[in-house]
Amino acid sequence: MNRFAYREAQTVPEAIDILRQEDGGRIVAGATDTLIRWRLGAWKPQYVLNIKRIPDLDTLDYSPDTGLSLGPLVTIRTLERQALVQTHYPALAQAAMAFAGVQIRNLATVGGNICNASPAGDTLPALLAYNAECRIAGAAGERVVPLADFLVGPGRTALQPAEMVVGVHLPALAPRSGGLYIKHSPRSTMDIATVGVAAVVTLAASGHVCQEVRITLGAVAPTVVRASAAEAVLRGQPADAATIQRAAQAALEAAHPIDDIRATAAHRRRVVVPLVQRAVHYAVQMAQGIPFSSQMQRSLAVEAAF
Ligand SMILES: Cc1cc2nc3c(=O)[nH]c(=O)nc-3n(C[C@H](O)[C@H](O)[C@H](O)COP(=O)(O)OP(=O)(O)OC[C@H]3O[C@@H](n4cnc5c(N)ncnc54)[C@H](O)[C@@H]3O)c2cc1C
Repeated sequence: MNRFAYREAQTVPEAIDILRQEDGGRIVAGATDTLIRWRLGAWKPQYVLNIKRIPDLDTLDYSPDTGLSLGPLVTIRTLERQALVQTHYPALAQAAMAFAGVQIRNLATVGGNICNASPAGDTLPALLAYNAECRIAGAAGERVVPLADFLVGPGRTALQPAEMVVGVHLPALAPRSGGLYIKHSPRSTMDIATVGVAAVVTLAASGHVCQEVRITLGAVAPTVVRASAAEAVLRGQPADAATIQRAAQAALEAAHPIDDIRATAAHRRRVVVPLVQRAVHYAVQMAQGIPFSSQMQRSLAVEAAF
């Protein structure tokens, strides 16, 4: 294991300055990814830069007009427990609930999950389905990048040297919206996703036609992806069982999984269809005002464990 120096920043400009002046640094937030990669020898930083003491990077603000703003240091545990997230962005709260064990959830941050850019990262399908944007700070100031463009490949992001994520923003949702994330994994929450699916549905005033829908898939492509063909099947159509089933089948167009130690590509493709079908079905119900119950939650877990 390589030795590394330790740096700490008290402000964002100070963090950017350190990153500009010294090569070979790696930002750490919760360190739940960094520590593992360092121990495995996959990451050999010259120094780690602790950003956890920078004030105001752990805030969570919600307004019905503008949406949800998260500091990158908001922990997964906070996403799981915050009533505002549970009420307005339930797919994100579900993703947090499905994430690792409670000890990891207490440490792991949303910024770390995004910047780690794992195709199986649990918050990513939900954030993408909510059209999240990343606020990035660097020497030249700030820029905003949609999450869809921020995630470039496995472990690769649009961050340039000496840049860091300083915020994540989720736009406000229209009335009659519902959303759900389902994680399929052989060991439920204690393993990363074999397939993760998020669906966010907004119904028209009639209450049964899909006005807007976003469906995203995790762990089946180099990055988390939108299932655009599935969305096209549903958009403007009645959200009935037959249409949802056709959409779920169409979601396979976006799935290009690989074989790895967790699952074969064939298994992942087989799981995509029922997970999308179920996620959309319950998202529609939630958009119709039917609360997502713990009984529904249990039925998902049983069903997803085939
Ligand atoms: C036992 C275990 C179980 C896990 N289970 C899951 C799981 O179920 N689901 C899941 O999605 N993940 C899981 N993970 C992975 C990990 O916990 C998450 O990816 C977590 O969100 C990382 O957050 P962190 O704050 O710990 O990141 P860190 O380890 O601190 O950082 C991760 C990466 O992001 C960069 N980074 C962090 N913050 C910023 C920032 N603000 N700006 C720029 N770069 C930044 C770091 O430089 C590093 O490259 C697990 C990890 C462990 C050890």
